[in-house]
Formats: sequence, C-alpha cells, structure tokens
Amino acid sequence: MYVKVGIDAGDFTYETKLPVKPGCMVVVPFKRTTKIGWVIDILCEPNVPEVTKLRRIKQLISRKPVLENNLIQLAKWVASYYVAEVGHVIEHILPQSVRRKSITRLLPRAKEFEIKNVRPQVDVFWEVDPTVRWNYYRHVIEQTLSEGKDVLVLVPEHRDHWILQDVPFYTSELRDSDKKRLWLALRRGNLRVVCGTRSAVFLPFRELGSIIVEREESKHYKEQDHPHYHARDVAIMRAMFEGIKVILGTSSPSLETYLNIKKGKYKLVNEPQFDKLNIKVITLQKKQIFSSELRRKIEKILQQGGKVVLFMNLRGYSRYLICEDCGYTLRCPTCGVGLVYYRTGRLLRCHYCGYKEAAPTVCPNCQGSNIRYVSLGVERVLRRAKVFFPEVSITQIDSDTPEDEASKWYEYQLIVGTEAIFRYVEFDKVDLVAVIDADSQLMFPNFRSYERFLQTIVRFYPAEIVIQTRRPWLPVIKYLRRGKIMEFYEDELHRRVGLGYPPHLHMVRVVVERKSGPTVSRVLDKVVDRLDGIKFLGPAPCPIPNLRGKQRAHLLIKTGYPPALHDVLLGMYRELKVKVDVDPIEIV
Ligand SMILES: [Zn+2]
Ligand SMILES: [Zn+2]
Repeated sequence: MYVKVGIDAGDFTYETKLPVKPGCMVVVPFKRTTKIGWVIDILCEPNVPEVTKLRRIKQLISRKPVLENNLIQLAKWVASYYVAEVGHVIEHILPQSVRRKSITRLLPRAKEFEIKNVRPQVDVFWEVDPTVRWNYYRHVIEQTLSEGKDVLVLVPEHRDHWILQDVPFYTSELRDSDKKRLWLALRRGNLRVVCGTRSAVFLPFRELGSIIVEREESKHYKEQDHPHYHARDVAIMRAMFEGIKVILGTSSPSLETYLNIKKGKYKLVNEPQFDKLNIKVITLQKKQIFSSELRRKIEKILQQGGKVVLFMNLRGYSRYLICEDCGYTLRCPTCGVGLVYYRTGRLLRCHYCGYKEAAPTVCPNCQGSNIRYVSLGVERVLRRAKVFFPEVSITQIDSDTPEDEASKWYEYQLIVGTEAIFRYVEFDKVDLVAVIDADSQLMFPNFRSYERFLQTIVRFYPAEIVIQTRRPWLPVIKYLRRGKIMEFYEDELHRRVGLGYPPHLHMVRVVVERKSGPTVSRVLDKVVDRLDGIKFLGPAPCPIPNLRGKQRAHLLIKTGYPPALHDVLLGMYRELKVKVDVDPIEIV
C-alpha cells in the first residue's frame, strides 16, 4: 500500500503493510533521521517518478486517527488555497501536546464525518452597537444548542472574550496542557460551546451546527505567519464541507463580505441603522494639531468631569508629503495608493508597483510651497495636550503600554492612543473621541486605507466622534459626516473595480527575503519567469525593505486565482524559498 504522509517539512509518499488510515500518527524515515507525521491519503498508485525508491513507514503510533476526516479535508483545502504543505498545516492546527505519542491512550474513537460540499448558509448581522450584536449571538447559540448542535464563536482578540465569560476560551496563547484538555473534551463530546481566536476554527467538534464570527472585518483573523490562512474564510469552507451555518457579525463589513451580500451569496439578516452615529468633521488649518473648535469641545466635557479619547494612529515607517495649504497628497497614478516619501534622494515611491518620482517642491494642486512630510505621532499629540489641558489627568496607550497600566484607562480624563485603545477602552464610558489627524490613516500606503478608516471610526460608537482632517472633500469623509455608510461601500466597490483590486479580484503577494540585494534580484527574476502570462505589480522594495538583516522585495499578483496558479505558486514556494501570502491584509 502507498500512503501520503504529512510532516513538518512537506508531504511525502511512503510504502507500508501496516493497517494505516487517514489521520493516523506514524513515524517515518526522513533524510537521515525519523519524524512524526500524519497519514493524509491512501494512494492506489505510488504517484512518484518510477526511479524513486520508496521508503517504508517505520511505526504506526495510533490505530485510531488523531485527526478526523473533516479536519483532514479542511487542512488540505488550507494547504492548497494558501500555498502550504498539508503536513505543515496539520502541525499548525494540532496543539503541540496532541502531536505526541502519549496522546494515543487518551483518544476516543474517531468519527467518520460526511463531507458534504454544499453551498453554506452565511448570514450577516450588520450592527454598530456591540451589545445588540452579542444579544443576537446569544440567541443563535441557544437556538443551535436546542437543535442538539454545537457552537463555535470566533473573536478577533483575546480580550473580546469578556462577554461570554461562562464559555471555555481557546487561543494560541493558552498553556499547552490547557489546549490539550479542551481539545480532548471536544473529541469526547463533553463541550458544546467554545469561544476562541482564529486557530479555534480547527477545533474537533462532534456535532458542529453553527460558527459565529464576531467582527468578521478584523485583520486579526488573518495569520501573519505561514500558513497565511484567514479564519473567516476557513470557517466558511468548514461550513461548506460539514453542511453547517455561519453567522458573520460586523460593525462595518469588509468589502469582500459586502460584495458577497450584493451578489446574494451571503444574506443580510437585519437592516443596519446608522443614524445613531454622531460624527462631526472639522477642517484643520495649516499646522494645527487641535482646532479651536475641538479645544472648546474638549474643555467643556472635561469641566463636566467627562472623558475624552484623542486618537492618533500613525505608524513609524510610513511618511508622506502633504500640502499644508490645500491638503493635497500624492498617490500612485496606476495603483491609487499613497506614495511614500524617502528622504534620501528626495523620492516618492509606490510600495506596490515600484513607481517613483522626484518629490515636488511646490504643490501640484495649488502651487503653494508649504509642502511637508508628516510625522505627527501619538507622543507629539500627548505633549500638546498637556500644554492645552494642564489641569487634567492624562495617559497614553499604545502597543508598548503594559497591560496592567492600560487597563487603568478609566482612572484618567484624557486618553491619548493608537488603535491599541480598542483592546481596553469601553466607548460607552467615553463622551468624545477626537480623531486628531485623519489624513495619517487615509494616506497609509494600502489600497484598503479608506475601508479601514471607516471601520475604525464606527467602532467608537456610542461615543460622540470628531474627525479632524485637511481633506474634507474625500468621499469617505463626506459619507461619514452624513452617515451615508452604504453609499461609501458602493463608491469604494466602484473605485476598486477601476483599480483592479479585491474584492473583485484576488491578490497574491510573493515576498523574497535574502541576505544580499543581488540574490534578491536573482530570485525575483526566476519568480517573474515563472509568472509568464500572469498580471502582476512590481517587483518593488517592500514597505519595510530591511528586516532582521535581510533585504526584502515583493510583487503583487492580481488574479481570479485559478487552481493552476496554486500549483505554480507551490512550486515557487518549495523551490525558490519565497513567501506566498494569498489574500494579504497587511503589506509590510
Ligand atoms: Zn496645495
Ligand atoms: Zn503604484
């Protein structure tokens, strides 16, 4: 008998007379050592060139499959779609302590799942008020349980769990022994509801009935390391294989989900209400950080003992030029993303296609000469706030702030922070959120920057929101001011069609990282050769061109993503040692 075995190094064919089944744990020889692996396929034909001499499986550790067929199916799909080895995906989805020989005596009998391959029912619940969303989820949970089925609730981050405190929580940060206990309890059918972050999508439920994905638009569902899977999309595939239901909850959906609603693939089950959003837009003058209008507003709230959040989300490596007279900034003529300023050589560069031009000395829009690169960070806002509001208690929260310190945010009247505040601050206890400089986020060199901005703003509900900008004419700002959120989505879909970006097409990012620049170019040449006839942007240096002593460059493929391309990419991944990210979220 010939079998395909997945190990961390890849998927390999072996010969055996042992009574192995898919999902069984085995020991196989690999190079000059042995490795633990998983049987992923029983083959009729060896499926390798005839000259290859096949090696034999050394030992069958568990006769009972560790992985059941539904999860093998899911792992295979993840490997094929996200360009990885099945063995590698299995290593990723099984807790470490489950990947040991000692697990075998604890394993209950495996279940044979029926693989259905049906179009799943995907419901979207679009609601800006998190309390209303969670009430809806509770209702879904009760209903599913009453049908005798289990429920998985996915949340973007650990701290989002507080709402379902009575439910066991699964995250990659758990101790391994706790992961094993929870995993085994599910295999034995002792748990009916589990809440967890993205890796929980691979948990071995007995009778899964529905998967709830809270804030489906969150970037945290995307794995930043290999394999680069997206938990929302994996949940939908799992629903397709197992014939179950998915509920996507959202305060403002991803464009991908919005398009799927429009196409009728997903069903919007409620009518979203936006008139409860309280948003005001203030146009900033020249070098202002606080407009006088905002200062008056803040003073009034502070005098009454209220709380104000000053939001400033500028990340260090992105710098861009802005005209301080008219607010004009430069975008790439082909890609539509913000151009990034490089001081050496005074160049503007596109991180997507490599386009570059000399930084202008006068504004191309108004011919003014007040062109500056923006580097207004959260610390500068804090310093100015201390000058303007010297009497009040003030704190700063960013990703470097220790958790116990940030958790005490409510002891302060004025909180200055980056998006790290979402982990701590409860906005129903805040009177006003002021977005100090909207432009810094809107110009972020990513084609999703408008979508992200809108999603950030909506999350401040129910606090009153003030947006300061030098570019009040931007469509996203106009739609927010008027509460016309649906119109924004239509407009943005349109813009993405024009530029050929997702959600109309898929994007695949190929990253080359090597110690020397010339090696990077050589590998890139080979990548380009293999992509003959396929459209792509670049190659260009990555937004972070040097990382951990390596030079980095990338190219971006815009594609319908046909299966033939999966194979081309897998070949590149194996032979050229490049990184492949399908449907990338962060491009750094
Ligand atoms: Zn100008
Ligand atoms: Zn470009």
